[in-house]
Formats: sequence, structure tokens, C-alpha cells
Amino acid sequence: MPTAAPALDNSQIVSLLLNWFDPKKRPLAFRERNGLSPWAILLSEVMAQQTQADRAAQKWSEFLECWPTPHEMAAAPRADIIAAWSGLGYNRRAVNLHRCAEAVVIEYDGNLPDSTAALEGLPGIGPYTARAVMAFAFNAPTMPVDTNIARVISRLLNRVLDRKEAQALADELVTQTGAPSATLTDAIMDLGATICTAKAANCGVCPLAQPCAYRAQVELNPFEAQDPAAKGAHRPMKQAAFNGSDRQVRGAIIRSLTTLSPMSEGELTQLHGDKTPQLLTALAKDGLIVSLDNNLWALP
Ligand code: SF4
Repeated sequence: MPTAAPALDNSQIVSLLLNWFDPKKRPLAFRERNGLSPWAILLSEVMAQQTQADRAAQKWSEFLECWPTPHEMAAAPRADIIAAWSGLGYNRRAVNLHRCAEAVVIEYDGNLPDSTAALEGLPGIGPYTARAVMAFAFNAPTMPVDTNIARVISRLLNRVLDRKEAQALADELVTQTGAPSATLTDAIMDLGATICTAKAANCGVCPLAQPCAYRAQVELNPFEAQDPAAKGAHRPMKQAAFNGSDRQVRGAIIRSLTTLSPMSEGELTQLHGDKTPQLLTALAKDGLIVSLDNNLWALP
């Protein structure tokens, strides 16, 4: 059983982390945010969430060239956004992005709101993305909690955390210390990605070893120590296989309609198999395709 852990000493943790962190050591796509608009940052967060950052970065530049503000995107046909999204996967994000741009134009005159609650009220924007925009675009005292950050905090406390607790504890790291939220977020994400990883806690080289309760537990009794991050709400989930999945066929249908639209259900079924009719209905429900007369399908 994990030993009871005291509350975190946030000042100590922040100071250790910021002394250790060197943003140049791990140059990542989207890390240089100087001069970027809140819209550009939101776009990068939406794209990078379920797609490898390097792959997303190339599309991100293309998107910003075509649609540099919510106004341009809201005015574009939805089909253009879906077609341009091709290759990033999880195409629903393209529809939500277009809906989000429309809502920002209608409700906020084209300027992204600078409040977490208002951002969460936009189509497709969840708690993580809202906080990422708040931290990275507005330097607000909050932190987007991903699996890396949740793992580090959970191990520091040696406690299994639900989403609400992990978020509250992450926010406290900035609200109680006044640390710059964007830099601190990058620092903990780097620690979780390189040292305190899902596979192993490399406590011997960790800057947070001294205040870490899980490290202390492992040293005290390595055979009884149980990794609390393995059970928390942010633990990595196993992804279903992509090959042969509905997701793969859905993507293939969208690609067909991007190049050959409109197409009949029969033509699409011939290309993509027996599941096609039911997937067409699901894609239409998600706003990714529309049904025309004569049993034809097209991008919206
Ligand atoms: S000391 Fe170990 S368990 Fe604690 S944060 Fe560092 S790597 Fe993770």
C-alpha cells in the first residue's frame, strides 16, 4: 500500500523544475509560441491532440496560411476544412474546428475569449484544450493536464488521482507560486516524457527526487511499492488496432469523397466494403458528409 504523503511543497517543486528545465534541449513543434495569436495556438492544440506533433505541424502551417483567423475559416465551406484535414485522422475535429470558428465569429466578434469557461463552451473544445489556450496564449494561471503531467503529480504524491484532483493540484502549482504557466507546463511535460515516463521512473536522474513520495516508497520497500500513476484517470489507455477498424474505413470514405465527390452508396460500398452504408449514416450524423438526391453522398 502507498504510504500517506504530505501535501506538495509547490514552491520547492516549481523551483527545482524551472532550474532543471531547458527548452532548447528538446525542441518540439509548437513550443515556440512567441508572436502567435490565440487562434494559432488553439489550432495547434486541436491538431496535436490525437496526431503526432511533427505531422500536425506541417498541416498547421498550411491551415494558418489558408485561414489565419476565425473569420476566414468561418467563411470557408466546411468541405474545404475536411479536405485539408486529410491525413491527420479523427476527422470530426475538422468539423468541430469549423463550428468553433463560426461560434467565435458570431459570439466573440472573431476574438477567442480569454476565460476557461467560455473556451469550454465552444464546439470541440474540452477542458484540456481550453486550459492549454489559457496557459499558452493568455499566460493565465492554469495548466493543461495531459498524461505526462498527471503521472508526475501522482508519483510526487504517491497517490492515485482522479481528473478533478490532478487538475486542481496542477493549477495550484501556478496559482500558489506565481510561476509562468506556459514554461512550467512545458517543464513538467518534458519531465514526464523523458525521466518520469510511463515505462519507468528514472528517479536517479530526476530533479524532483528529493520531495517525491513515490521515490521514497520505492527506496523504503521496492517490493511493495505500487505505481499510483498506473491506476489514475489519466493512465494511458490501449488504442484499438487501426487496420480494419471503422476509423480506417471512415477515413477512406472521406478521402474518396474529397477527390471524387459526389459518389453513390453503391460506388462507395464497392470501394470500402459492406460496412459502408452504416458508416455513411454515422459520418453524416457527425457532420462530415451530406446526403444528396439520387442516393449520392458528398462532403458538406
Ligand atoms: S523522483 Fe522518480 S517517481 Fe518521482 S517524479 Fe522523479 S522520476 Fe518520477
